[in-house]
Amino acid sequence: MYPSKYYDPFDKERSVLVLIEGLKNYQNKLHIDLERWYYYSMDGIRSIKEINVEGKRVFVRVDFNVPLDENGNVADDTRIVAALPTIRYLLDRGAKVILASHLGRPKGQRNEKYSLRPVAEALATLTNQPILFLEDCVGSEVEESVQEMAENSIVLLENLRFHAEEEGNDEAFSKSLAKLADVYVNDAFGTAHRAHASTVGMVPYVKEKAVGFLIEKELQFLCDKVDHPERPFCVVLGGAKVSDKIGVIESVMDKANHILIGGAMAYTFALAEGRTIGDSRVEPDYVDFARQLIEKAKSKGVDLQLPVDTVTTKKVDFDHRQLGELKVFEGNIEAGWEGVDIGPKTADKYAQLIRSAKTILWNGPVGIFEIEASAKGSYAIAQAMAASEGTTIVGGGDCVKAIHQSGCADKITFLSTGGGASLQLLEGKPLPGLEALKQ
Ligand code: AMP
Repeated sequence: MYPSKYYDPFDKERSVLVLIEGLKNYQNKLHIDLERWYYYSMDGIRSIKEINVEGKRVFVRVDFNVPLDENGNVADDTRIVAALPTIRYLLDRGAKVILASHLGRPKGQRNEKYSLRPVAEALATLTNQPILFLEDCVGSEVEESVQEMAENSIVLLENLRFHAEEEGNDEAFSKSLAKLADVYVNDAFGTAHRAHASTVGMVPYVKEKAVGFLIEKELQFLCDKVDHPERPFCVVLGGAKVSDKIGVIESVMDKANHILIGGAMAYTFALAEGRTIGDSRVEPDYVDFARQLIEKAKSKGVDLQLPVDTVTTKKVDFDHRQLGELKVFEGNIEAGWEGVDIGPKTADKYAQLIRSAKTILWNGPVGIFEIEASAKGSYAIAQAMAASEGTTIVGGGDCVKAIHQSGCADKITFLSTGGGASLQLLEGKPLPGLEALKQ
């Protein structure tokens, strides 16, 4: 079925991939979704598509941590809309859907300001069906209401974080949540890196468990596409600190063809190369580490690019989103000037490398994108990614904000919904919320 010369007993993963490639020729005859089979059975995490949910109480941990306006209404329903494919899929198969989320930081106390009731209203409009909102997330009244649920109906529980036991991952509380469910589904990627009762504690007490479509997509892009990229694979790394991105840099060093450095972390690398950086932000303790990375890239044949020019200023007024006079330095930056963005030559060079890549991953803005005058570099990255015909992935947090600000969001293959969680996944570290789901 596949040439045996490709079987390498010491590289199990590659061997399996080759086998899958071979099997793909027979996919129509086999009637199985090989992509899905590979991604998830390998990790032992199931998709909701693998579970019979008909007539069952399906507890779905969603991320409805949405902003509310001054009247207490949902100001941005993006996160609710994002959960709809999983909710609709379950309803279509006759499940009783129990939705649970946190909202804000009520610090373990009941606080009406953080009630999920407005979310129930928004959800009713979006699903065009009534939502039964329960005043709590555990207890006998909640259990009774859930027992009485009809198939194809939705219950939304009150904010999980009204109980300190949620973040405390308390066992008794976890068991109380688990009592509500025949099936557990996690579709809240943004909290998958936290070991809370609703993401970890309750999971062993529910028989069947799976990820929803949102997390499934995160795994597909942040794990599979990054671990087995179509090449050339270009990674753009920016952000405030090298120290925050150590894990990601080390992890992509084994996978990428090009690593393009920007943001304030570039100045630590510039120091390591013996350049002057004026008054730019720097982490002196990480200069040696940056030097080692430069060497490592050379020895691995990875093209590690540092900015060739830098936009600087003498005054950053972040509160009023203003900068003083701007000056572009090529190479060394003079004393008194602070780097705020990659320069135009760097932006062109990076855009060219992005355009010629087949897979592009971006994590961390390359300048202070919150201020329009120093957002040009990040916009250039966003536009080059948007123009790419390859797979483009934006790894969560500030970068996603920059992409939206640039107006390019709808041209990106995948925008991650998690900040910390996406960083952890890109570092190759296990996420407690996903580990809990492994069979
Ligand atoms: P991170 O959360 O590590 O991805 O960092 C994002 C933050 O890095 C954003 O708030 C940016 O304003 C900031 N940043 C990017 N470039 C610079 C720079 N040259 N100087 C200061 N901060 C920067």
